Amino acid sequence: MTSYDYDYVVIGGGSGGMASSKEAARLGARVALFDFVKPSTQGTKWGLGGTCVNVGCVPKKLMHYAGLLGAGLHDARHFGWRLGEPTHDWTALRTAVQNHVKSLNFGYRNGLRSAKVNYLNQLARFADPHTVEYTEKDGSVKRLTAAHICISVGGRPIIPTDVPGAVEHAITSDDIFALKNAPGRTLVVGASYIALECAGFLNELGYDVTVAVRSIVLRGFDRQCSEKVASLMADIGVKFKYGPLPTKIEKADGQLHVTFSDGTVDTYQTVLYATGRYADTGGLALENAGVVVGKNGKIPVINEVTNVPHIYAVGDIVEGGLELTPVAIRAGELLARRLFAGATEQMDYVNVPTAVFTPFEYGCVGYTEEAAIAKYGEENIETYLFEFASLELGAAHRSKVPARRADEFDDALPLPCLSKLVCLKPEGERVVGFHYVGPNAGEVTQGFALAVILGATKKDFNKVIGIHPTDAESFTALDITRASGQPFAASGGCG
Ligand code: NDP
Repeated sequence: MTSYDYDYVVIGGGSGGMASSKEAARLGARVALFDFVKPSTQGTKWGLGGTCVNVGCVPKKLMHYAGLLGAGLHDARHFGWRLGEPTHDWTALRTAVQNHVKSLNFGYRNGLRSAKVNYLNQLARFADPHTVEYTEKDGSVKRLTAAHICISVGGRPIIPTDVPGAVEHAITSDDIFALKNAPGRTLVVGASYIALECAGFLNELGYDVTVAVRSIVLRGFDRQCSEKVASLMADIGVKFKYGPLPTKIEKADGQLHVTFSDGTVDTYQTVLYATGRYADTGGLALENAGVVVGKNGKIPVINEVTNVPHIYAVGDIVEGGLELTPVAIRAGELLARRLFAGATEQMDYVNVPTAVFTPFEYGCVGYTEEAAIAKYGEENIETYLFEFASLELGAAHRSKVPARRADEFDDALPLPCLSKLVCLKPEGERVVGFHYVGPNAGEVTQGFALAVILGATKKDFNKVIGIHPTDAESFTALDITRASGQPFAASGGCG
């Protein structure tokens, strides 16, 4: 029998790789984990833990929270807090966020040590299907062998190379959370999760933000909810530029002069590209292991197994997968249990809840209304809808268009919440799509996801007694269907 240095080598210390390596070690495997951060195009570097903790979910959620606090100042005044004219200090925010991230990096390192995973801060590549090699600082090449190898190197932002000046001058989500100077007037290119989340918190922090949308916002999400998110963002000051995209970015006098495809030129302090991500598999020498690679560096797998039976892939590099931290964690842990504990449970990629942390958040689980209709046929789908204002936001006359007076908003206030259930008629109105736009959508959706996964029907939702007054209680009493053609916007009051 061949003997290897390790039972399991994991390449990439992000959410999936960390979880998989620690679980394997807990199950008694001899494990090594490689993690090495290549600087961003603008030279930003970070520590152990991958995208989520360093340049993704964690700093993003903290900056989103900082933005919400600013918006809350309006409500605070309305409810009697006497506050001076607020100003925001980007450096203080950046420092607070980065300090928290560093504390998490430290915790991850300790976590690997106590789990007895051998952590190597090295850039690994395949020498052959069972051998991984890396180059030490002194130039010497080291090799180690493993029975099983898991690739979990994650992704990096794409900056189009056909836009002169973009790679040199634009930043990405790899840079924004550690930006030394306040971003100032910002152009965000792209219109999906990352673009809208960054545009949202920058706007809430007081920066002038324009989003350049190539086609639609939040492709892949429920259209009605996506458009509601964008229209609420527009209401609070984010500018959306549909169609024209940058064709050239030039720097002069510390400003970025952007030429758009319609010939217009505008000036920004920051241009942030959020136009998708590629899998960072290019430097792994996968050809030495015979691993097949697809579009954008992604790796095709069946149940996390690549075309080479003892080489696996988890997380953002999986072709057709979901680029979500909890998905990578679960997939990595289940893989380790199958490899080292004889388990058989496979990752379930259906009904994965998620949330977009825009100023008015959007959470969902299951099918969009469009996807449900495409899958089951329009005649088999019933959609329940309710649009309303949170008690607190309504009472505070929330709006942040500064030129207007608060008492003008009774009529003008957009209803910031939308609750929507997409139900499958032939199965007793089983809920196949849950969608909620409004405050705390991540929290609300996480709870209701259990009901959707367990196969709850519309009637089951109605059995639940609401917690009053909350936004989530709307889901216990939805009664207006799209098919009825009735207006689904609240007219006010309880019940
Ligand atoms: P996506 O691939 O989801 O979207 C890319 C966006 O950029 C689309 O709006 C697309 O437009 C646009 N685009 C692509 N190329 C260009 C171009 N050349 N010029 C202008 N616009 C362009 O990428 P993201 O970076 O937003 O997100 C990556 C992944 O990260 C997502 O799959 C998501 O799952 C994950 N994520 C999860 C989060 C969470 O859980 N809260 C938060 C952030 C990210 P078009 O629609 O026209 O193609």
